[in-house]
Amino acid sequence: MSKYPCRRCEEVVCNFKGIVCTTCRDADAFAKAEKIDEPNWTGPVCVPNGDEDGYFNDVDALRERYEDEGWPLPPWVFVCTEEKIEIDADRILENAAELFECVEQPTFVAVDELREFVKAWNAKQTFATLNEDRTRVVVLTASVPA
Ligand SMILES: [Zn+2]
Repeated sequence: MSKYPCRRCEEVVCNFKGIVCTTCRDADAFAKAEKIDEPNWTGPVCVPNGDEDGYFNDVDALRERYEDEGWPLPPWVFVCTEEKIEIDADRILENAAELFECVEQPTFVAVDELREFVKAWNAKQTFATLNEDRTRVVVLTASVPA
């Protein structure tokens, strides 16, 4: 694939002509975002332009990783929202109906019990995925040189 210069900074290469590079896009997002000082945010964060390794449960985890790796700390990070894994009782029923290739909708019994069970099951799940919230950023406190 050809590489093209960023429309804004003209330095970083992009995969398509006439677009703005990730660095410039992140800078725009930062300019518009609500800024939160590090001590006021305890939730998950992700580094701008990061890959899947750039997501952390909190700033402390990020600091620890960057310190371990000897990487320079980014001046700010995006806030992340947590999305918990959840299954849908009605989708389960739809899938069951599809499995039997029903001509007409089958009559399920104890549907409310299934919904109640799934609701309780969902509430017990701890697995969550983190989504970047580009409208809020956490400004990291510069580390004081020892
Ligand atoms: Zn750029």
